[in-house]
Amino acid sequence: MATSVVPDIELQKQFDYCLKVKTLLAERLPGRAPLAFTHTYGCQGNVAEGERIDGMLAQMGYEFCDDASKADFILFNTCAVREHAEERVFSNLGRLKVFKETNPNLIIAVCGCMVQQEHIKKKLKSSFPYVDLVFGTHAIHTFPESLYNCILKQERVFEVPDSDGVVFEGVPSKHSNGIKAFLPISYGCNNFCTYCVVPLVKGRERSRKYEDIMADARQLVADGYKEIMLIGQNVNSYGNDFGETNLFAKLLREINDIPGDFIIRFMTSHPKDCSFELIDTMAECSKVEHHIHLPFQSGNDRVLREMNRHYDRKRYTEVAKYAKERIPDIAITSDVIVGFPGETHEDFLDTVSLIREIEFSSLYIFIFSPRVGTKAASMPDPVPAEEKSAWFKELSDAQEEVAAARSLAMKGKVYRALVEGRNKAGRLCGRTSQNIMIEFDGPDDLIGTFQNIKVTEPLTWILKGELQ
Ligand code: SF4
Repeated sequence: MATSVVPDIELQKQFDYCLKVKTLLAERLPGRAPLAFTHTYGCQGNVAEGERIDGMLAQMGYEFCDDASKADFILFNTCAVREHAEERVFSNLGRLKVFKETNPNLIIAVCGCMVQQEHIKKKLKSSFPYVDLVFGTHAIHTFPESLYNCILKQERVFEVPDSDGVVFEGVPSKHSNGIKAFLPISYGCNNFCTYCVVPLVKGRERSRKYEDIMADARQLVADGYKEIMLIGQNVNSYGNDFGETNLFAKLLREINDIPGDFIIRFMTSHPKDCSFELIDTMAECSKVEHHIHLPFQSGNDRVLREMNRHYDRKRYTEVAKYAKERIPDIAITSDVIVGFPGETHEDFLDTVSLIREIEFSSLYIFIFSPRVGTKAASMPDPVPAEEKSAWFKELSDAQEEVAAARSLAMKGKVYRALVEGRNKAGRLCGRTSQNIMIEFDGPDDLIGTFQNIKVTEPLTWILKGELQ
């Protein structure tokens, strides 16, 4: 298995396939554009991959719809991180069967992390005969060729190569709105946390070339995007595969120097690689927002070792406290796993104490979900599910108290927010620098602009405010 950059000649071949699909569909659907319905599950990295796939579909002449029943092509871009997400995909796929019965020309496709797992591929083959096209995380760049063969030969195509991963450039993404854009800086992961399937399905860490990222960032600013979100499984180790260290901090500074009124966010930071230099860079770069997602997963050192996280509680708290010292209004958010195999209630209480010590703005709390092929899946796991659910509630309640106190402290203060749109209540909404949602009244022409909002009613998870 080898990591490789897809050569230009192969990419050109795929662009040619885009045109071939376009021609084929123009013959089969005369007088109208083909319609695609695509849905992405999971993390921002997956969303960014989905935007590249949508970019390819646009090149093939597809227009996009929100109603799967009207589509000529349906794609689920899947996530394998938790069992629950996989169950949802299978259940949603089941609902598509009826569409296939009424429209035999409909193409149903599944891609992403789930299908990169052998047992899932087999299940799709045997139990979902109406799924026409399956392509893995290392076959995204050959998607146009796979789709062409699927339509032309009217046969099922399964393209799931085994690989350490590839990098391919030059495919224009179709961003879901004109305000915020995801910008991948690396793919895959080298860390092998014992519970995580990502390195097995997304391959080893591959950093994109510095100059390719800078070119994309300049283009996004020129195109009027107001928020650039730099994406990687571990942004802090960006460039380590080039033999560089702290290249991410340099990248942040250089993007910050691009002229224009825009903001920069990034996700995800691994605590073992999050340097004090990165925190200094955040503090010194005016366009880098005051939020860091720094998953600690557990507050107990023995559990962290079992998870293969390569940091301990002391290291984590040093980084988090330094961040608060340098950027006093910073929001720190995190992922936490409750009920890791072998975790005791006493171990778990270290997690509760850590959240009170750091005062996180919000947490994504997950009950441990065993993933096929990972080390943790075969570890003894004696704690019953009901007990883990009780721990989950205990942690959620503690975090709710912390978040409510943090919100209350924001009352009466003015925050600059990027206005993203209207919420279900019809009010304008945006996010503060700390990535906290704030809603307020105002006209439509404020959408896509930065506005100062005074917090009048701080709720636990959302702020209500007034335009200044
Ligand atoms: S750092 Fe760990 S949890 Fe994050 S993607 Fe890599 S292996 Fe998974």
